[in-house]
Formats: sequence, C-alpha cells, structure tokens
Amino acid sequence: MGAGTDTVTSEKAPQRFPSPASNKVATCGIDYLIIGQGLAGTLIGYRLEAAGHRVHYLDAPEQTAASSVAAGIINPITGRRFVKSWRIDELLPEARRLYGELETLLGVKLWHDTPLVRTLFNRGDENDWLARSADAGYADYMEDHPALGRIPDVTVPAFAYACVRHSARVDVSLLVSAFRDRISEENRFIAGSVDYDRLPDGYDRIIFCEGWRSRFNPYFDFVPPGGNKGEVLFVTTAEAPLDRLFKHRVFLVPQSDQSYWIGATSENNFTDDLPTPAAREYLTDRLREVMTVPFTITDHRAAIRPTARDRRMVIGSHPERPRLYIFNGLGTKGASLAPLGSRWLLELLEHGQAPPHEVDVRRCLDLK
Ligand SMILES: Cc1cc2nc3c(=O)[nH]c(=O)nc-3n(C[C@H](O)[C@H](O)[C@H](O)COP(=O)(O)OP(=O)(O)OC[C@H]3O[C@@H](n4cnc5c(N)ncnc54)[C@H](O)[C@@H]3O)c2cc1C
Repeated sequence: MGAGTDTVTSEKAPQRFPSPASNKVATCGIDYLIIGQGLAGTLIGYRLEAAGHRVHYLDAPEQTAASSVAAGIINPITGRRFVKSWRIDELLPEARRLYGELETLLGVKLWHDTPLVRTLFNRGDENDWLARSADAGYADYMEDHPALGRIPDVTVPAFAYACVRHSARVDVSLLVSAFRDRISEENRFIAGSVDYDRLPDGYDRIIFCEGWRSRFNPYFDFVPPGGNKGEVLFVTTAEAPLDRLFKHRVFLVPQSDQSYWIGATSENNFTDDLPTPAAREYLTDRLREVMTVPFTITDHRAAIRPTARDRRMVIGSHPERPRLYIFNGLGTKGASLAPLGSRWLLELLEHGQAPPHEVDVRRCLDLK
C-alpha cells in the first residue's frame, strides 16, 4: 500500500448528470474516479470532463508528486547522440493544443515557447551534432549557430553551442495546482489514499494515475515496477534571469518567478523520495562549474519519476476487470507524452479503440 495517511473506502455516490442527449456517444454521462491527480490524472480527467462525463479525483496531497518537481521541459532532440524524441512530430501539436485549452479553462500561463541552447563540449560533440542535423526529419529541430542572449554573461564559455528548436517549458506544477483548486471548489476532489481492498463505490470506472506508486497497486501488479529518483535545486542570482533554457552538465531553467530550476539527478536505486545532501552537493558543484555569477540556493526538492522498464507509457484497461484502467509510465518526458497518451486513453474509453501496442498495458503481461 502507498505511503498515504487517510484511507478512503467508499463515499456517497456522486450525483449523475442528466441522461445523455441522443446525439451523444453511448458512454456520455459515465461517472469516473481518477486515483492520483498529477499530470496524468489531470489530463485524462480534463478530457473526460470535456467529453461530458462526471469526474471525481482522489489524491494523497501529503505525498510528493513528480509533477510538482518537474521542470516541464519539452525537448525534441535528446541525449548525447542527439536523437529525436519518440513520436515528437505528433506529440508537439497535441501538447500545444491541449495545454492551450487548459490555459483558457484555468486562466493561467502554462506553455512557454523557449529555445533550448546546449553546450557542445568538444569537437566530437560538434561533429555528432552536425552529422545528425543532416539526417532526414532533423533539420527543422536543429540550429547550428544559435543566438545566445545573455548566456555568455552568466556562464563559462563553451567549446561551441547548438540550439534545439521547437523546445518549450510547460508549467506542470502550476497546471496541477490550478486544476486542483478548480475541482476542490466544485467538491470533486477527495484528499486521501485508496484502500485497494475496498475500492470506492458509486463509480462506473476507476482510472489509476498513481505515478511511481502504482508499484503498490495489486490490480496492476503485472506491470513491472519502475521509478527513477530525481533531485533539483532552485537558485536565485542578482542578475536578470536568462530568457532561454540552457543545458550544460545540468539544465538551467528560468522560472516565472525569476529563479532558476537546476537539475536534475537520476537514480534508479532509491529507498525514499527525500532530498539528500549528496545530490545537493553534486548539483551545486555542477552549477559552480558553469555559472560565473554568485547564486543562492532557495530550495532543494526530490521526487520519483514514473518510469517503465521499456520506457513507454502504460495505458489501458485491466485484462479481467473492465472497470479498472491505468495511465502511467510518463517517465522523464511527461510534459510532452501525456497529451497524446491521454487522447489514446480517451479513445479507448469512448470508442473501445485500443492504444498502440507499444503503450498498451497488456504488453506488460508478456514483460513480466
Ligand atoms: C526531478 C524531476 C524532473 C523532471 N523534469 C521533467 C521535465 O523537464 N520534462 C518532463 O516532461 N518531465 C519531467 N519529469 C517527469 C514528470 O514529472 C513526470 O513524467 C510526470 O509528472 C508524471 O506524472 P504522473 O501524474 O504520472 O505522476 P505524479 O506527478 O507522481 O502524480 C501521481 C499522483 O498520484 C498520487 N497517488 C499515488 N498513489 C495514490 C493512491 N494510492 N491514492 C491516492 N493518490 C495516490 C500521488 O500523490 C500523486 O499526486 C521530471 C520528474 C522529476 C522527478
């Protein structure tokens, strides 16, 4: 069982919407309970509400959600080999559209188009970058001689720089908190941790969006447990912050409140989700290597990323309990993956259309 304190066993069945209008799909008006209101729970909940369903949310707020610590970077070209992110051409327009809708609904700014400048450390990096940018489908995402803005004013000179185009930052934490305010005001948010032995009554369908804690969920115990701990620092400087994302050994991510998000560490073997002195020292050292102006650490946070062993989302219905669904495995790239993932789950819920096999939870029956 997860680390939550309160236990919810059952609660009053929510009021149903009036009977669905005849021109609506057969599933309209179904009552849903979403367990876990991080990024995954928020996006599928929003889509279901927009489709006319009544949705309640259960979450244990005292637990740290990955969504509250993430930088929300959308980075189409990743890793040392500069590889295009999986399905990025599809993910980007879906993400831009969905976060735009949520900005309108919630009245907050979520999507920030921000160029991502990255350091090329040596000739080898530079050659790899240039070779990759010649590959089909890459040129639009890669810029060889980017404008640096104020990067040289506050960081050490690099061998060379390159820029990833169509990158962005999504304020995932603000999205989750603003959405929670809304559902709380409408009495559709329940604070607490689910009792797996007595799932709440009164809902037609339950969707588990529990992040890494799904490893404690007995219904989906055939999904191999994942999880990767990440720690980050928040720092301020006396200078005006950069107007772009900068990746050196660590990411420098300017925040809306003028501070920087600095991160992150990556640890598969973890025993808790708490900040550690070792990670603080590691991140501070990496920052000192790159930043030439004094900085003050204002916060140090940790959370567990919900990774899947095969690095794909986990979406779908329980093979024997058709009332139970899962949306998980957003891993290190939830901001870009979750909009398309939530659409695939909606299509399953509304039309019975299975998600692509590579993200379907049923593939895990073969993995175990
Ligand atoms: C340090 C760090 C940096 C990151 N940076 C980025 C980034 O730059 N870009 C990016 O795209 N992604 C990033 N990520 C990944 C991103 O945070 C995740 O992919 C995404 O937020 C996962 O969302 P989720 O809703 O699946 O899980 P979570 O955000 O963890 O939400 C799960 C929720 O379920 C609740 N819950 C769990 N079990 C129960 C239960 N039994 N009963 C009730 N409630 C329960 C939890 O309290 C929690 O609120 C980062 C993650 C970390 C940790």
